[in-house]
Amino acid sequence: MKTIDTELAHLGRDPNRYSGMVNTPVFRTSTVVFPNLAAYEDRKNTSFKSVRYGRHGTPTTFAFEEAVATLEGGHQAVAVPNGMAAIAGVLLALTRGGGHLLVTDGVYAPARHFCERQLRPRGVDVEYYDPLLGAGVAHKLRANTVGVYTESPSSLTFEIQDIPAIAAAAHARQIPVVTDNTWGTPYFFPAFERGVDVSIHAATKYINGHSDVMMGVIVCNERYWQDVRQTVSDFGFGVSPEECWLALRGLRTMGVRLKQQMANAIEVARWLERRPEVARVLYPALESHPGHALWKRDFRGAASLFSVVLKGVSADAVSTFVDRLELFGIGSSWGGYESLVNVAHTENLRTATGWRPEGPMIRLHIGLESPQDLIVDLAQAMSALG
Ligand SMILES: *Cc1c(COP(=O)(O)O)cnc(C)c1O
Repeated sequence: MKTIDTELAHLGRDPNRYSGMVNTPVFRTSTVVFPNLAAYEDRKNTSFKSVRYGRHGTPTTFAFEEAVATLEGGHQAVAVPNGMAAIAGVLLALTRGGGHLLVTDGVYAPARHFCERQLRPRGVDVEYYDPLLGAGVAHKLRANTVGVYTESPSSLTFEIQDIPAIAAAAHARQIPVVTDNTWGTPYFFPAFERGVDVSIHAATKYINGHSDVMMGVIVCNERYWQDVRQTVSDFGFGVSPEECWLALRGLRTMGVRLKQQMANAIEVARWLERRPEVARVLYPALESHPGHALWKRDFRGAASLFSVVLKGVSADAVSTFVDRLELFGIGSSWGGYESLVNVAHTENLRTATGWRPEGPMIRLHIGLESPQDLIVDLAQAMSALG
């Protein structure tokens, strides 16, 4: 097998097929015409990877999907309009017949809202579990459990889950394990080797990497592929070929971006850890993180997104600190080339487990800027924290 860096440069393109063009071109279409009626009548018997109608994808879409599936070690992938559509598509497929769904208490907040506003009213019994449960998840499984949803590290609080242990417990009962692998990326977390059945990505983040595309991608093993792919199709979650082309272009540099952003993030995080204004830095790549050993065992690297718990200061002081930052944009999302900051609201974060930070919490995304410049910027803004 080729190394992942070589694959990043070569997957999802075939110059011989496209007049020698290095990159797979953008193919736009709605209608696809067939050479004869028999071929047209047969279109539904072909796989989801043949061109039959615009909504189901074009060679541009397929090139992106194949690249991501191969990188992560899955069977097949499907591109969807954004990360949230990936979450919705997978959860709708798993809960189609109702049942009991286990969801990590560290789940991305909009995914929790989807469970509460869309799944529970449809009769799904959603139960949140402690992200640190590991093999103990076995005691939560019921006869009607239809899936275990994981996200490691947790959104905002960054606990690392023992996914191999969770997968072993779930698979003993033939229950699928889903993971939101947006932080891990196919580059740093080989989800399928770790026992995951279905992996979700907000390709909006590191895969595209340039803060200019919304896209999601779902990667499945063979067992769950048909079901998930059919559900995505039934809900009409198609993507434009331009978006796929941009995401595939972003993917080419994902390895170098991630490695550099990880190095930058570690430098900034270590500096923050030594500051008197800081209570804790929640970043699995730091030795001080409670999940560091698990992270080291299961991940190949760390994304450049982490949280910082400040010592007790007023909300006003935190606002002044954030507003004084010059190199950090204030905004949602992450995984682009540029640094970002926002304040994490932790009051209603958990329902199954407690979360009591020592003070206000900020989330930082570290970009490709010089970490020294970022540190100088953080230092000047920190005077606001008294
Ligand atoms: C951003 C994000 C999503 C949603 O992705 P969108 O493309 O913004 O819809 C899903 N999961 C996680 C962990 C995210 O951070």
